[in-house]
Amino acid sequence: MKQLTCRDIGVDCDVKFVGETEEEIMAQAAAHAASEHNLPTIPPGIEQKCRAAIKEIPEGSV
Ligand SMILES: [Zn+2]
Repeated sequence: MKQLTCRDIGVDCDVKFVGETEEEIMAQAAAHAASEHNLPTIPPGIEQKCRAAIKEIPEGSV
């Protein structure tokens, strides 16, 4: 499993995204950014930052 939190990319927000792939996480992050952070599209620089911040977590730790 992979995980990303808003805080990982410097946003003061503890929402967590978990998925099997980067794409799953990016889709969740994009939806969240649009509804919670007033970011209808994620700029390429932020997307890169997100992908770099995604970390592998052990199965069953969620
Ligand atoms: Zn957030």
